[in-house]
Amino acid sequence: MGGDLVLVVNSGSSSIKYQLLAPGSGTVVAAGLVERIGEDGGAIEHTTDGRTLSDRVNIADHTAGLRLAFEKFAETGHDLAGAGVTAVGHRVVHGGEVFYRPTLVDDRVLATIDELSALAPLHNPANVRGIEAVRTLLPDVPQVAVFDTAFFHGLPDAAKTYAIDAQVAAAHGIRRYGFHGTSHEYVSGRVAEFLGRPAESLKQIVFHLGNGASVSALRDGRPVDTSMGLTPLEGLVMGTRPGDLDPGIILHLMRTAQLDVNGVDRLLNRGSGLRGMAGVNDFRELRRLIGEGDEAARLAYDVYVHRLRHYLGAYLVELGGVDAITFTAGVGENNPDVRADALSGLSGFGIAVDHERNTAPDRTARRISPPDAKVDVLVVPTNEELAIARAAAALTGSP
Ligand code: ADP
Repeated sequence: MGGDLVLVVNSGSSSIKYQLLAPGSGTVVAAGLVERIGEDGGAIEHTTDGRTLSDRVNIADHTAGLRLAFEKFAETGHDLAGAGVTAVGHRVVHGGEVFYRPTLVDDRVLATIDELSALAPLHNPANVRGIEAVRTLLPDVPQVAVFDTAFFHGLPDAAKTYAIDAQVAAAHGIRRYGFHGTSHEYVSGRVAEFLGRPAESLKQIVFHLGNGASVSALRDGRPVDTSMGLTPLEGLVMGTRPGDLDPGIILHLMRTAQLDVNGVDRLLNRGSGLRGMAGVNDFRELRRLIGEGDEAARLAYDVYVHRLRHYLGAYLVELGGVDAITFTAGVGENNPDVRADALSGLSGFGIAVDHERNTAPDRTARRISPPDAKVDVLVVPTNEELAIARAAAALTGSP
């Protein structure tokens, strides 16, 4: 299969997404998804050479899930245990104050990622299980953890500090960490390349709109603010999460609806956002419902766009103007209405979207503002796997 490939693993609580790719060229050799780990009806989809293998089989744990993926690799002529994989890169959600650059995994690092589970109870334990599974299956290959929080490590104090009791904050690690950092870093770098200007010369606003959603403001190539906070709950409206809320709502519900911590957790992580307002969390479904005249779906869309504009306004002022506004991830890359509605009526700020460019069926990085607009509005596909593969390759010295 040729050497110098990196396996990228994104391990969730009941799923593992993976890609085997060449960090230099970005060529993807194989990609797959293992789902419903530890539940009934486990499944794997593995795509390589334009062919997708699917299987339904119960999968006990993450090691069994990865073992299944390795079998698919072997069946398709890519034996991972053989030579060729020089590093494994893991997406790890929370690096806390400790990890702010890609880090080679050893026992101590793994234990610390596990300890940080208090800050990301849904994510870090799953990331740990993914790393342990790879250790079992590929014991001799170096593993690198790439943290979703890392890019935002240096946020200015005023942006990262919550206005609560300072001692309570210090004792419990409470600050704004920010997430989707790998995507914000990769996309903002691509923007600079696309515009042919040094990143240090640009004021940027990047909207990462997927199932989870966040926006960042960058100056001199560094983030100065971002919408996600201590956890990935803050900020924009998401598929199943509400984004910004009056914290009093939680107190009110605990008192009047007798919600306990698990009830609040479920409400905020799974039962809010688009799903809470309109019954669906997938944006395509939301658009379909709106097309059928569903009023709850319409309102959910309006709330979603209202929040985007709220942050756009805030970051425009924080940056004192902007050179480039960029949309990325599932919704940002594929939904022209969201882009047009988020930026409508702003020609006085030099911000406009060209209808034809915005609706063209293009999948590559592109400009959607009119040629003479002061602010460049762009759509740039994100590629977190490639960014993780490159970070892993750079750290382990593979070409
Ligand atoms: P994540 O990586 O956070 O799980 P994605 O970046 O894949 O999420 O984004 C998922 C969202 O993108 C879903 O709401 C989905 O409906 C939306 N999406 C994906 N493809 C399209 C498309 N072609 N048109 C409109 N929305 C899309």
